[in-house]
Amino acid sequence: MYDILKWINEEKSARSHLKGLANKMAEELDQIRETTSPLLTIGSTSSSLTTAGTSLAHNTAWKHGRSVKLKHMEIQQLQTSLQKEIDAKQRIQEELKECQAENILKAEENLRLKEEIDKLQKQLTCEQTKQLTKSPITQSVSDDLSTFINNTSIDRFLRNVTAGLSDSPALLNDTNNDLSATFDDGSSGGDDSSRTMSGSLNKNQTIRPLVPLRNELHDFMIANFHVTAMCDDCQNALIGIVRQGFVCQRCKLICHPDCMEKISTPCRPSIKDRSRTILLDQHIVRIPKAGGIKKGWSKYQLLNLQTKLLFYELSSDKDQKITWPQPAFIIDLTDDEFIVSSVTSSDAYHANKKDVSSIFKISILKLSSPKQFQHTLVLTNNESEKNQYVNMLSDLSSKVKTLKQTGATRGANFIAKELFDTSKCSSLKETTAAVILDQDRLIACGEDGLYLLDISKDTSTKLSDKRVHQLSLISNNELLVTLAGKQRTIRLQSLKSLLEHPLSPLDSKIIETKNATTFTVHSTSLVLCVAIKNRILVYQLFSTPKPYHYSFIREFNIIQNVTYLEISTININQTEQQILWYGYPSTFIAQRLDQQCPSVSLLRDEDPTLQFFRDRPIEALRVVPVTNSSSINELLLVFRELGIYVSCSTGMRTRHRELMWTALPISTAFSDPYLLIYTEKSVDIYDVPSATWLQSLPLSRTRSLTFDGCICLSHDAELLNHHSKLLYLIQKTNSNPLLNVPERASSKSLATRGGRFRVGGGVVGTIKSTTSSSIAPISGPKDFTHISHLGKGEGLQIISGLKQVSPTSTLSSINHSSSGSTLNTNNRRSLISGPQNFVHLTHIGPSDISTFASDLSTTNTTTNKAVISAPMNFRHQVHIGHNDEIDQLNSNNNNNNNNNTRKGVTYEQQTNSVLLKQQQQQVTSSGNSTLSSQSLSFKDEDDSDQPLE
Ligand SMILES: [Zn+2]
Ligand SMILES: [Zn+2]
Repeated sequence: MYDILKWINEEKSARSHLKGLANKMAEELDQIRETTSPLLTIGSTSSSLTTAGTSLAHNTAWKHGRSVKLKHMEIQQLQTSLQKEIDAKQRIQEELKECQAENILKAEENLRLKEEIDKLQKQLTCEQTKQLTKSPITQSVSDDLSTFINNTSIDRFLRNVTAGLSDSPALLNDTNNDLSATFDDGSSGGDDSSRTMSGSLNKNQTIRPLVPLRNELHDFMIANFHVTAMCDDCQNALIGIVRQGFVCQRCKLICHPDCMEKISTPCRPSIKDRSRTILLDQHIVRIPKAGGIKKGWSKYQLLNLQTKLLFYELSSDKDQKITWPQPAFIIDLTDDEFIVSSVTSSDAYHANKKDVSSIFKISILKLSSPKQFQHTLVLTNNESEKNQYVNMLSDLSSKVKTLKQTGATRGANFIAKELFDTSKCSSLKETTAAVILDQDRLIACGEDGLYLLDISKDTSTKLSDKRVHQLSLISNNELLVTLAGKQRTIRLQSLKSLLEHPLSPLDSKIIETKNATTFTVHSTSLVLCVAIKNRILVYQLFSTPKPYHYSFIREFNIIQNVTYLEISTININQTEQQILWYGYPSTFIAQRLDQQCPSVSLLRDEDPTLQFFRDRPIEALRVVPVTNSSSINELLLVFRELGIYVSCSTGMRTRHRELMWTALPISTAFSDPYLLIYTEKSVDIYDVPSATWLQSLPLSRTRSLTFDGCICLSHDAELLNHHSKLLYLIQKTNSNPLLNVPERASSKSLATRGGRFRVGGGVVGTIKSTTSSSIAPISGPKDFTHISHLGKGEGLQIISGLKQVSPTSTLSSINHSSSGSTLNTNNRRSLISGPQNFVHLTHIGPSDISTFASDLSTTNTTTNKAVISAPMNFRHQVHIGHNDEIDQLNSNNNNNNNNNTRKGVTYEQQTNSVLLKQQQQQVTSSGNSTLSSQSLSFKDEDDSDQPLE
């Protein structure tokens, strides 16, 4: 700049000098003209007098011509001098450029040299550690194969798991180092970030690529795995959709990116086939198929990843579309209610008797309110293997618990509570978004409008008729911004008036936003950004006066359709800056809103292994700031197939570790510092700063409705009886929740609270079966359709009516209801179908079960009932059709052989009677005094069920 100013000044002075010169010359010329003109006149007079007049005229013309000529010359002279000056300046500029380029080159060379030094130092330390750790153990791995397969499979598994566990603090330390390293980078890159973000992308900026991971012994390449794989170093599973790990090009050794640099086993191309067969044979267990043990068992491979157990189905009829190893389900050992135990024959009714000793059971918490567990039966090869698994897993879970208690490991500790049962408002089944209004109320988009849900009262009120796709509540909960209607336009609405006059048209529509795909609005600055295909419109909203008005600020045109949009306030160099993040396939862009400046791509790494981003479109889901202390220097880019950490300032990758999902995300949420990934099988929670997978909630087919994921909609088949549920995800330790979710302990308490019975509210345990289909206890949702709700009075009627019901007709009514045909009496129907009548009476421990089970055939009815009523032990094993049941009963009577199948059926029959009894008890509790005689009459009927033909 200074140089340019200088040149300009020089030029100015030169010009003024030239002007002065020109003036001088003009004056001189005039003088010359004056002196020469008399001579000319003399000459002309001497030549001819007659031509004097004309020559005079000629003279003046000549004079004029000469002056013009002179002027021309003058101008030409000036022009040439100017040209010379310009040329000189250009030369100087070129020289300057050359100097600059040279400087840049030198700086780059310096950097390269520095990197090389770093690399060499790293190699040196690597070599040193290798020499230290070289021991006979690592050498002997390849030696004795047979003993390895036969004996150590489980031992090894155990070691792996424990190793994985003990590794985790170390891992955290590692990441801390990483973080501090990025911090250091950040402090130097802080200036860069402001430069980048302010748009003047300086070419001199140091863009430092990540030093690639290297291992001197092997030739590792990043790879996509299509089948289950395990790290040969830490023995943990490789998870993810793409780029799950590294494979040695020579010996086919597999490892995690985290483990690659520390691998010290030599490269032996001859052992590659061996390692693959080991993996195929390892950790094979069986889990009951959908429909229960009676349907058989499916083979699974059980792998672990630190504190998670991953079950991969090994059946051949796998979904062909899935091209990566996707766990069928995940069990998180950090679950506080995790229990692993052996089973008795009563736990696994339909199992082969000889198998029972090889089966163990894992229970984890699925829902914390109402409390609901997920039980998984696992069949191993033999009893000793089972014992090993049980011991190993219980050891591990107790270790995890103590670690958690001492605070040594960080856990996410999210729990799920039922917020609202959408069966009460069917249009909420497919709700797409929700916002929290206050501790008791929230607003949710239904299929046909907007609803106000009061969770303390369990009520819903329709607020608007318009189909709402997305909503946002800003300006102290005053202004409701929605993307609504068939035309998908943005509407601004006063929430207060909407609550006062529901269904009133108070829309203030932004007409230009027709066909909007998505929007984002900043809660404090009230800046609204709307994406319409490949355009982004920016508006300023005003909180007053009503109806809300807005003003258009600007428009951005993007090369592709925008799928993600978010305004974020981030702190760069102690100044808050509003940045719009948006995404289209394979790309995330940052755009500053407060200044006119060009947009910046957030992933600018030229890493050739990231080529796949350019090869095919990968959905861009969200940008997550990695917050540590005050300022943000790092971002996590969440793509549909993986998460990548980049520097906020340079767009270069900052970590080798990429976040891997267990399956493709259905939706994502961010609750600082946790990233929540909702997949078909689970809700996985990641800690963003440390890039670790902390927790996995066993909620399938669930998706987030809010930005932070605290409200979500679950279609989990085990949670519901054919309808979705709104769930509330919250940290267990959170003492200040946004919502006051009423504890739904049991159906009984709800019955008293709401004055009515409740569907699906009871404490139930479910057997986790193969995939999505579930086996609900007693009230099998498939053939146990809910027909009607019972009020207090109705229940009474039914019970009195039951006296006259003959055992035969009771049974037939069961069969009828299961086959869906009509029934004669409403009373019987409701009795059978009502899962809401089932009350949890008592929990029974494992030791109790065996005694009860052995007593079962001989004991009197009262004892049986106690056994049956315990929901912990009672599990519906199989659904029985019309004919099955009669057959079962027949065989029950004819055959004295005490087999499991029969017992299961007996249970079912008895359950019905228990249902009756419990219903009766509820009635009693509500003030009926004629219980005892009716109870007796029930018993009679129960007993007469048995000899039925
Ligand atoms: Zn590993
Ligand atoms: Zn190798």
